[in-house]
Amino acid sequence: MANNIAVLGSTGSIGIQTLEVARNLGISISALTAGSNIDLLESQAREFEPSLVSIGEEGLALELKKRLSGLGIDVYYGLEGLKVAASVSQADTVVTSIVGIAGLVPTIEAIRHGKNIALANKETLVTAGEIVMAEADAHNVSIFPVDSEHSAIYQCLAANRKQDVERLIITASGGPFRGKRREELENVTVEQALKHPNWSMGSKITIDSATLMNKGLEVIEAHWLFGFAPEKISVLVHPQSIIHSMVEYVDGSVMAQLGPPDMRLPIQLALTWPHRAGNDFSRMNLLEHRNLTFEEPDMDTFSCLGLAFEALKLGGTMPAVMNGANEAAVELFLNRKIGFCDIPRLIERTMQTHIVNTMPHLDDIIEVDKWARKMVGGSV
Ligand code: NAD
Ligand code: MG
Repeated sequence: MANNIAVLGSTGSIGIQTLEVARNLGISISALTAGSNIDLLESQAREFEPSLVSIGEEGLALELKKRLSGLGIDVYYGLEGLKVAASVSQADTVVTSIVGIAGLVPTIEAIRHGKNIALANKETLVTAGEIVMAEADAHNVSIFPVDSEHSAIYQCLAANRKQDVERLIITASGGPFRGKRREELENVTVEQALKHPNWSMGSKITIDSATLMNKGLEVIEAHWLFGFAPEKISVLVHPQSIIHSMVEYVDGSVMAQLGPPDMRLPIQLALTWPHRAGNDFSRMNLLEHRNLTFEEPDMDTFSCLGLAFEALKLGGTMPAVMNGANEAAVELFLNRKIGFCDIPRLIERTMQTHIVNTMPHLDDIIEVDKWARKMVGGSV
């Protein structure tokens, strides 16, 4: 059970819910970080009294320092600030709720300082899974998943032998465009893509959910977290988002984890495991969910899922290239510079141009990420 945490990305969707869980459980906070939301970071700092906070830019840090003067809270900024927060001495656990590859270096910093990781940032394992898992092993820290699917699989794997697993079944809501054909998606708007049927999340992951890239990222994340080959990881569309994922065993038995679609549950479990704590979150009434349905994912329309499986099989630097291209393309889409269907097109083109480095170091990952973003940016 975590007693003291640092929250990286505390002003985002997962960050805010993490603070709610920490408030309920009486967990202390020693560091908070944000990209640019100075007002929210200030109020979080006043409530939780961490020993330090960090924000994206120097100018914002100077302003925040003024606002927090006299409270004994150190103020940092930029990547260095994230590293200081990730290694703050009082914390036993770091919650990584920054979005994108920006979470990678701070997560490695936390691991090297012996912090357990409550991992929300999926791009960390997607881009550098082998490096991150090796670091965790070397520093004897545990990485507990916050992503609801991986939290479910973690629970379904508990008390069973890994060699008895037939396959992991990752469930997917299908997003707002489930059932649509590719032609129908050419002209969808940013607003339509941001309307997720079941979850309220940050904008980048919401677009990833609409393209099914989110499920692709989760397949890669599952591969590194649980150590199963791509052939043993499957995706099943389950629009109600009640079953958060499943594990099928060699005897034909399937274990599933169910619960309301509420991210505070997996966040809480990541902080209390192997125990569970009571709470007043709403309960699931199965009588209200009489129709749990399942479908095959439409990989032709939602080609991002296939691209992610391909990147995982090619390995090395390819998942980081795919991720960097996706981050850049999603940003362009959110800024209305490209259409929805340009997202998979640009990712695929970037992946086709890349020559895989099969044994990358961290620097190589960071370099190919920049390269992929440039490729995408240069083609519009
Ligand atoms: P969000 O956009 O709501 O919040 C992101 C946070 O990171 C904010 O605090 C922001 O200020 C900070 N941030 C963003 N870019 C930064 C940068 N370059 N440097 C420093 N800080 C930066 O995102 P979210 O929905 O909370 O998602 C966070 C991560 O958790 C993502 O990787 C996402 O895939 C994963 N995740 C989210 C959910 C969810 O329900 N929201 C579920 C599963 C996994
Ligand atoms: Mg998820």
